[in-house]
Amino acid sequence: MPSSGRRWAWVEIDLSAIRNNVLEAKRRLRPGCRLMAVVKADAYGHGAVRVARTALNSGADELAVATVDEGVELRKAGIHAPILVLAEPPASSIPLLLGYHIMPAVYTPEFALAYAEMADAHGMKAPFHLAVNTGMNRIGVRAEEIIDFERTVSFHRALEQVGTFTHFATADMPENIDFTIQVHRFTEAIDALRVAGIDPGTVHAANSAALLRYPQTHFDMARLGISLYGFHPCNETRGTVNLKPAMSVYARITECKQVPMSEGVSYGLNYRSTGSVKICTLPIGYADGLNRALSSRVNFILDGTYVPQVGNICMDQCMFEVDMRTYGTRRRLDPQIGDVVTVVGQQGDAVTTITEMAYTLHTIEHELAIAFSHRLPRVYV
Ligand code: PLP
Repeated sequence: MPSSGRRWAWVEIDLSAIRNNVLEAKRRLRPGCRLMAVVKADAYGHGAVRVARTALNSGADELAVATVDEGVELRKAGIHAPILVLAEPPASSIPLLLGYHIMPAVYTPEFALAYAEMADAHGMKAPFHLAVNTGMNRIGVRAEEIIDFERTVSFHRALEQVGTFTHFATADMPENIDFTIQVHRFTEAIDALRVAGIDPGTVHAANSAALLRYPQTHFDMARLGISLYGFHPCNETRGTVNLKPAMSVYARITECKQVPMSEGVSYGLNYRSTGSVKICTLPIGYADGLNRALSSRVNFILDGTYVPQVGNICMDQCMFEVDMRTYGTRRRLDPQIGDVVTVVGQQGDAVTTITEMAYTLHTIEHELAIAFSHRLPRVYV
């Protein structure tokens, strides 16, 4: 594993895993259905530009971001694929949208008209995707109100509806009526547009879970987020979809010492050694995204063997224990300063995952992947 010279802790991103995950998704898409790679939040912490390029080279057609600045970053890196901002941005960002050819989601007449007027003033079109609220109640025009919305904004000739989309609240949960209702409302809304003579443009709804589970939600395009990075959106896809996690996290041992029985470790000294152990220090902490609530609840991997993290995780450092009694009998671990420890990833048969960490913390992988901060240099392999 290539390391970073700048810090003895780093994130490694395996771009061949991103490629694998795009191909896995594409294999499941209905023929003709386009793929949108969701690279918001710096590609869920993986690095937007590198991931976007890899996804596009692997067959993704379009990109989605959450903010205009995220779109601008991609354009400045020379990426020409269509980019959609998944929520309506502030009107003050309209010059950037137009200047960088980035499309917004639209769902208020005020924004639509401000956008259209500025485009018109520059002799440009104002392309957008209409967001439809089919039940998640986060953003969008309510499904039953879209015809009224279209009538309100239709007089403006610069507006160009290039897409219509919704987002599912429960596609990752066991089969449920709320999901079915959202699909039904969305289908009816698209039909209503067509009956009214309005072209919805590219119709899209599926996130990773819907893409992998429900082909009837593929419409013209599907949006691949969490599974682009190798995470299963739900248990139902495990075993059937060959996703590969792209992110690993490594650190090198900065200190290693023998500690007698019953001594405390880290702030609060609330972890006590139960024998004569070696305590090793890693230069990674909660400021790097290693959640403090994982303290003494996670294993790392040293030389192919699990080693328990012990004591409170500090802001910039944390400790793990090598119990000479336990590990010495099975396999002699001899930790040395500079040895690489896997915080997230695989060494031989041993594996520690963001999924496990998310389970321990009762949260989702998205939150933990994004948390690995930019203090940790990204190394791409
Ligand atoms: N579409 C929208 C509007 C989203 O907000 C997200 C993620 O939050 C996605 C697609 C991707 O979802 P997932 O990461 O579950 O694939």
